[in-house]
Amino acid sequence: MTHKDKKIKYDTLIIGGGISGITACYSLLNKKKDVVLIEKSSHIGGRAFSFFDPSTKEIIDNGQHVIVGACKNFINLISDLGLKNKIVNSKNFRVPVVAGGKTSYLGSRNIPSIVGLAWSIISYSHLKKSDRFKVIFGLLKILMSDIEKETNKHKIFKDWLKGNKQNSSTIKYFWNIIIKPALNDHIEKIDTKYALFVIKKTFLQSQKNLFLGYPSVALSDLWQPIEKKISSSKSSTIKKGRVKKLILEKNLITAAELSNGEVIQANTFVTTIPQKDLFQLFKESEISIDSKLSKKELNNSPIVGIHFWFDKLVMKENYLASADGETQWIFNVSKNHQEKNFHIVISQSAAWNWINQEKEDLKNIFLKEITKILPKSKHAKLLKYSIVKQPNATFRCTPESDESRDIKLPSIENLFISGDWTKTRWPSTMESAVISGNKVANTVLNYMS
Ligand SMILES: Cc1cc2nc3c(=O)[nH]c(=O)nc-3n(C[C@H](O)[C@H](O)[C@H](O)COP(=O)(O)OP(=O)(O)OC[C@H]3O[C@@H](n4cnc5c(N)ncnc54)[C@H](O)[C@@H]3O)c2cc1C
Repeated sequence: MTHKDKKIKYDTLIIGGGISGITACYSLLNKKKDVVLIEKSSHIGGRAFSFFDPSTKEIIDNGQHVIVGACKNFINLISDLGLKNKIVNSKNFRVPVVAGGKTSYLGSRNIPSIVGLAWSIISYSHLKKSDRFKVIFGLLKILMSDIEKETNKHKIFKDWLKGNKQNSSTIKYFWNIIIKPALNDHIEKIDTKYALFVIKKTFLQSQKNLFLGYPSVALSDLWQPIEKKISSSKSSTIKKGRVKKLILEKNLITAAELSNGEVIQANTFVTTIPQKDLFQLFKESEISIDSKLSKKELNNSPIVGIHFWFDKLVMKENYLASADGETQWIFNVSKNHQEKNFHIVISQSAAWNWINQEKEDLKNIFLKEITKILPKSKHAKLLKYSIVKQPNATFRCTPESDESRDIKLPSIENLFISGDWTKTRWPSTMESAVISGNKVANTVLNYMS
């Protein structure tokens, strides 16, 4: 008789099947633990998933996901799952940047590391010569600087840029292209610490491993090996359902109750759900938390994806960034996924301006926009489109965020907390989710040993 046949106690119950939850589950399965993973939505992958869109009859991602060479934990997980070849690596971070109908490149084709980046900036035609040296000065300053000290001087990244020789052109044609999508926010709001961390990690540390990576398959395909591993295990399982309540007895959680009334017992409990959901779960479980905590709750930023399918080729690059107009980054989904159609997605970060707009309006605005960036689209017919809005795509990295990530939650002996938002130093990313998932699995194993 196995756990799957009979309701007995699991070693660990994991709440949330996002990247953090599946990483923790994978680590614990590898240590032969009996795990039950509970996910409230119909899919595994959390905020990184694909779905069938009935209006276009296509499988599309909820958002374009990108990694950089420094995302070592995410890359290790993907390699362990045998999927390393499903991530396309664009070496040396070579980004075509389009402005005023012209393309100039950031990152060198042949020269690796910061030398290649510096070389590309020296010939970057969207900036006048003196501004190119200002960007190099800024990068060198980041390379040499102690992040903590820099943050003490300028808490907000915009102030740091202004205090370090940057002007509206260098911000528009260089810093915004990188920082807005990486931190999903405006430079006026971003904590300098996060901006410098991301730039150091992306360009200035992983000297051999400087690349931009993106999946060559639908996002959900990346999680299939984990789903298979769990379903082929004799004593672990995935259950669809919302954990409504944790049952607490003498500072130990004994069971979790799902919204359908099912009660599941385990020795240890891991939550990997977003901070807001965790506060709600504590409330519903009548586990008291400091009333000041909810005031410190992390805020979120939206991302909007505008998908277009044309009748002919409109874009030859795998991806590009646009430095003027509204459009930010465009990905060539057909080329990246090796599909035989002409599908592109425009990815708009910090998308407060777009999140509440009618889909039809967004289609019209961006269809017009891209004729300047992708002139071939003028002569192509739009076959179909889809707009994907993710209002809570990532948590914000403002100067208040660190305190929110470090909040003191009720200490319950066998309850462990994970998720991209926990204290990993990384912003809201898949890398942060994997780091937290691995860390929580180790903590659980130590507790059980
Ligand atoms: C549009 C978009 C674009 C992005 N782009 C990038 C990118 O380019 N690069 C990058 O690295 N990251 C990107 N991210 C961020 C990345 O997806 C997240 O940081 C990461 O997926 C978070 O994983 P997680 O497991 O910590 O949390 P989540 O993915 O939020 O997982 C938590 C899970 O818990 C479930 N849950 C919540 N409450 C309950 C409950 N009570 N019971 C059961 N289940 C529950 C949720 O349904 C969810 O599946 C992007 C995100 C979005 C939305």
